[in-house]
Amino acid sequence: MNRYLVERLQPFGTTIFAEMSALAVETGAINLGQGFPDSDGPDLVKQAAVDAIRAGHNQYPPGIGVPELRTAIRAHQQRFYGLDYDAGAEILVTAGATEAIAAALLALCSPGDEVVTFEPYYDSYAACIAMAGATRRVVTLRAPDYSFEPDELRAAITPRTRLVLLNSPHNPTGKVFTRAELALVADLAREHDLLVVTDEVYEHLVYDGEHVPMATLPGMRDRTVTIGSGGKTFAFTGWKVGWACASPELVIAVKTAKQFLTYVSSGPFQYAIAVGLQLPDSYFVQFRDEMLEKRNRLCAGLTDAGFDVLRPQGTYFATVDIRSHGETDGLAFCRSLPRRCGVVAVPSVVFYDDVEAGAPLVRFACCKRTEVLDEACTRLKSLAK
Ligand code: PMP
Ligand code: GLN
Repeated sequence: MNRYLVERLQPFGTTIFAEMSALAVETGAINLGQGFPDSDGPDLVKQAAVDAIRAGHNQYPPGIGVPELRTAIRAHQQRFYGLDYDAGAEILVTAGATEAIAAALLALCSPGDEVVTFEPYYDSYAACIAMAGATRRVVTLRAPDYSFEPDELRAAITPRTRLVLLNSPHNPTGKVFTRAELALVADLAREHDLLVVTDEVYEHLVYDGEHVPMATLPGMRDRTVTIGSGGKTFAFTGWKVGWACASPELVIAVKTAKQFLTYVSSGPFQYAIAVGLQLPDSYFVQFRDEMLEKRNRLCAGLTDAGFDVLRPQGTYFATVDIRSHGETDGLAFCRSLPRRCGVVAVPSVVFYDDVEAGAPLVRFACCKRTEVLDEACTRLKSLAK
């Protein structure tokens, strides 16, 4: 309880990522909690950022983003999905996907509106829905396969529903929504005249299945705000370059909120991410293959350490059920883990309203060097003894 903080933000203390990363620093534990890679992305992209700084691209960039990046985003959406966005009117560069999510919710929701989302949900969704004065209606993805009941989704939609906030590939579960699941969301959006805000920051990290952008489904392009980020795809999470693609009117709406959040951001990094987005297909294939190898290594190591592993189909993350270790409280488990065996993880329960569903689940990040993953798994194995 903080006596100054407004009521609608009272439930939101320090993010779990900050808490767990601080615990990792304090205890010197291996950090498989917060999802950031422990090695940098391509040198070419790094050099492009240095070059942009040296070339003097150091003042406010245009509010919608530098033309080089918007053109590169356009070409990326065209190359991978056949989606055609006008680089001048249908693309908005933001301070990471986080700002795109916040700006979209602030721009599109009125107080009292409802937002339908799936749980577990990425933590900023709940906070941004609250900041917009809206209410979340949550549909649970049930472990172990993280499917959902179509009727639960139908029931979550009410006359007050404004939009569906979707995330695929999904953090924290690693679920990749199937085309049929997305088609159901799309059918309901069209039937009830809803917008869809879709967070696709892990679009290039699909190991099983395929990434289907919501905007490619029939009738969805003009009611969908598609959010992406350079952070994950190029392993530069600290640069905070994200974007939103949508119809001109939706982009104007999101921009109206965005311009008063940060106005603009990341000038030189925008040029660098533009270079990244133009890398050949081979970069994206290799990036996925390397992360697939890490996913497999982490899942094998966690299994060997005695956990029931919920194998992810995409993203940076794998989840375990700690009941295999006779434990049920993931939050207590994660708070004690660094001191017990020198590893940090994230308790999935913080991403759930249904506390019972999330309590025994713990998320580990696989986006680390293989020797780090191996050492973490060796340490975790000592727990079982
Ligand atoms: N959405 C999801 C699902 C994420 O996992 C993250 C975290 N990296 C973000 C959005 C935020 O992305 P960014 O760092 O580009 O703000
Ligand atoms: N998206 C990252 C994760 O899920 C963390 C980003 C953040 O700390 N906000 O671990």
